[in-house]
Amino acid sequence: MIAYIGIGANLGDAQGNVLDAIARLGALPGATLIASSSLYRTAPIDSGGGDYVNAVASIETSLGAQALLEALQAIELAHGRERPYRNAPRTLDLDLLLYGDGTIATGTLTVPHPRMHERAFVLAPLLEIAPDAVIPGLGPAAGFVPRVADQFIARIA
Ligand code: ATP
Ligand code: CA
Ligand code: CA
Repeated sequence: MIAYIGIGANLGDAQGNVLDAIARLGALPGATLIASSSLYRTAPIDSGGGDYVNAVASIETSLGAQALLEALQAIELAHGRERPYRNAPRTLDLDLLLYGDGTIATGTLTVPHPRMHERAFVLAPLLEIAPDAVIPGLGPAAGFVPRVADQFIARIA
């Protein structure tokens, strides 16, 4: 299965945390890193703290979606992720964006990620590594780019 992971950080060494997360994704038992995007800088939207560093990575994995979510949460914890309140600044956030062409809706996991198409910080890095990405139920990810054109995002050189 090919899965796409959205990565974000805006506390501590945000850029270092994102790069370490990409390395850890590739090192997961049952996962191989396929591609990772450039790093992007974005202003926090509903969140305090400094600017975000964002990226998207794709992995090929034999893990089921729930097991993959738990693996992502373990990587977040390794970076000291705390959740004091909704949208709090975070050392590392890993969201499961796409899991093949699957749709999942359980108490702990919704795939595709329900807000991914509203976020420039997801769409820009996703389309960099997967220009033809399709969001199950919604259609080509590229079709949502015009709607997020007002969200500031800069590729980090
Ligand atoms: P957002 O989901 O809007 O990006 P967030 O990333 O800040 O917000 P978290 O506090 O990281 O939200 O996650 C809250 C819960 O979301 C997690 O405990 C997890 O069970 C659930 N969740 C549901 N679907 C997903 C998904 N596709 N990827 C990651 N977590 C998910
Ligand atoms: Ca998130
Ligand atoms: Ca999350």
